[in-house]
Amino acid sequence: MLKDHFRPQSFNGIDDIVIVGGGLAGLFCALKLAPRPVTILAAAPIGHGASSAWAQGGIAAAMSPGDTFEKHVADTVTAGAGIVDEKMTRMMVAEGPARIHDLLEYGVPFDRDLEGKLLLSREAAHSERRIVRVRGDMAGKAIMEALIAAVRRTPSIRIIEGYVVEELVREGRFISGVVARPDAGQSKTRVSFPARAVVLCSGGIGHLYAVTTNPWEACGQGVGMAARAGAIIADPEFVQFHPTAINIGKDPAPLATEALRGDGAVLVNSAGHRFMLDIHPDGELAPRDIVSRGVFAEVQAGRGAFLDCTKAVGKHFPEMFPTVYASCLAASIDPVTQPIPVVPAVHYHMGGVLTDGQGRTSIDGLWAAGEVTSTGVHGANRLASNSLLEAVVFAARIAESIKGTLPAPKLTEWGDDAGENDDPVTVEDSPPFKVLRSLMSECVGVVRTRESLTRAIREIAALERANNRLRFANIITTAKLIAVAALQRTESRGGHFRADCPSERPEWQRRTYLTLAQAERLAAEVAETEPA
Ligand SMILES: Cc1cc2nc3c(=O)[nH]c(=O)nc-3n(C[C@H](O)[C@H](O)[C@H](O)COP(=O)(O)OP(=O)(O)OC[C@H]3O[C@@H](n4cnc5c(N)ncnc54)[C@H](O)[C@@H]3O)c2cc1C
Repeated sequence: MLKDHFRPQSFNGIDDIVIVGGGLAGLFCALKLAPRPVTILAAAPIGHGASSAWAQGGIAAAMSPGDTFEKHVADTVTAGAGIVDEKMTRMMVAEGPARIHDLLEYGVPFDRDLEGKLLLSREAAHSERRIVRVRGDMAGKAIMEALIAAVRRTPSIRIIEGYVVEELVREGRFISGVVARPDAGQSKTRVSFPARAVVLCSGGIGHLYAVTTNPWEACGQGVGMAARAGAIIADPEFVQFHPTAINIGKDPAPLATEALRGDGAVLVNSAGHRFMLDIHPDGELAPRDIVSRGVFAEVQAGRGAFLDCTKAVGKHFPEMFPTVYASCLAASIDPVTQPIPVVPAVHYHMGGVLTDGQGRTSIDGLWAAGEVTSTGVHGANRLASNSLLEAVVFAARIAESIKGTLPAPKLTEWGDDAGENDDPVTVEDSPPFKVLRSLMSECVGVVRTRESLTRAIREIAALERANNRLRFANIITTAKLIAVAALQRTESRGGHFRADCPSERPEWQRRTYLTLAQAERLAAEVAETEPA
């Protein structure tokens, strides 16, 4: 797993900066920090195990002649359902074009027109054409290929692949390093990496749920680790479901990109009825959470849901959407002539580790970027293609922040750590993990109620009592934070829908801030007061 030419001789010295995760946020931050020495620790080989490589749409940036930063901010604020942090959003949007130029310099082959100008396309809920893409649905793959090549050319960046970080080490006020388990988390030995600064870029939480579009490495370890180290977590209850994951029993579920609906594909049930027209005037182009609930209701009722692209895309499917086409063919579905079976799947986490405009968390020495964070720019519902933008803008801001100031860590004994109290685990295959994923989908999913959330919190506590392994503890901590925050928020807003409180409530027009200690207290109250 570990490439020999990157194998370090010894980890006993102090690494300058350790970045946890080799997706877009981690790689971009490392490049921006160059020539400062950086070590990237990644659970999977770089380019694998990262949502970034799977992005099909592209990156949003206000760059077309008719577009303005104000319009991009306004669309983001509207999508976020009343709790977007406008200051952070303004910052992100204003720096978008410069970060797109950085990506071009690193070699990303964004699509251009015959005059060489960037081609900008439009996605749902964007009022202008502002998505930069690569060859239809290949943006993520192309961006990652270019950045991986740039990182490999940069001598100051050391890449260590197959190391699963299990713990952020806190000494007093500071995070002073991390502890990781080699061999994709299978080694019996753990390795310590003392560092002057740690940047958490470990991605999302999709695999906490039974149906997701995310790679399995996105199972919420980063949020859990940070919460266990004492960091404040923001908005954990806001989970975005993609309405059209391809329902062919694959884990993770392949995605049928939103652009298909943008191009006129329609959603029908097994009787051929176009059910979204009964639910919202915009039909298939209604906000993602509304379409997800529409699809969910059809699937729950046993009627099934299908994305019919036969008329809108038809024979152009293979060249227009090569990734989706390949996924369909692998399941013996020809989307040129057949409707695609779809199901909502966990796609993106709006919540995460609370960070400020410099990507600083609430603990000294710990920065965070990308999907693991909650910067406030997504509010209760992410605007499509804003997540890759957020990853690059805040990764670059972190590099500036770390260049300017460094905490001085108080170091105690560091070295290889046998991890005697913890067996290596294959998290994705373990029975408790499977139980947790089903529980989250059933009780903390597209539609939630007080009853389902109370049940989730009780069963999470039981799973936690029966399984004290460190990696599982990180994962289950994140599940607990999501369930507790979802129970607390007695309203429906954006990605969080409560069937027992189906409307927005003005008193809840605010973000959630939660520490693990607070979540533990609330979970204990549920155990004491709610009937089993
Ligand atoms: C199918 C799909 C399509 C998408 N399309 C778009 C799109 O078109 N536009 C858009 O803006 N967004 C899109 N998104 C969302 C976007 O891709 C992600 O939000 C973004 O890529 C996250 O980047 P990241 O660097 O934070 O995380 P990732 O790219 O997921 O990288 C996380 C890294 O952390 C590593 N890691 C995780 N845990 C550990 C650990 N414990 N120790 C060490 N390493 C660890 C992983 O192996 C990986 O290297 C899409 C997501 C999916 C799944």
